[in-house]
Amino acid sequence: MQGAFREHRRAFESLNCEVVEVRKPADLQGIQGLVFPGGESTTIGKLLQNEGLGDRIKELAAQDMPMFGTCAGMILLAKYIDDSDQYRLNLMDITVKRNAFGRQIASFEANITIPALGNDPVRAVFIRAPYVQEVAPNVGILAEYEGKIVFVRQGNMIASAFHPELTPDKRVHQYFLNIISEYQ
Ligand code: GLN
Repeated sequence: MQGAFREHRRAFESLNCEVVEVRKPADLQGIQGLVFPGGESTTIGKLLQNEGLGDRIKELAAQDMPMFGTCAGMILLAKYIDDSDQYRLNLMDITVKRNAFGRQIASFEANITIPALGNDPVRAVFIRAPYVQEVAPNVGILAEYEGKIVFVRQGNMIASAFHPELTPDKRVHQYFLNIISEYQ
């Protein structure tokens, strides 16, 4: 509905995955996984409250539907947001801090290692990114950057502080499609 959804669409289509854009509850019909793009989490949060879309998404999460949040999407999936009472879906047992890398280095790229995706480093693009300050024991840490948690998994949900849809490497998107395949 807002933010970098076109880039996710292209990434998934390049992996032969059919994509639909979700803006209202009826659009959720028949989908097998849900992606929350980067953008502005307070804006997306407001839109999620329209027509009960967020509530319907929470019902799907209760049925273990695979979900993937990037950047603002990670913030929306979190249960706890440092210093903010903004709307969130309240689904992942993580505490996130918004714009956590500071104003001076609002956006940057770095190579990170994601052991679940193999030995080749992943080029990670961070744009006014959050990081995860704390995880519950049921949350797996998939990647860290300079000691900060930037990629996590809880059951069928994954969330990255960076934007894998902005680089040609499709391993993170493929990883999410594998979660969907295993869930079917
Ligand atoms: N800073 C944004 C927020 O807090 C997230 C930025 C992004 O998604 N690239 O919502």
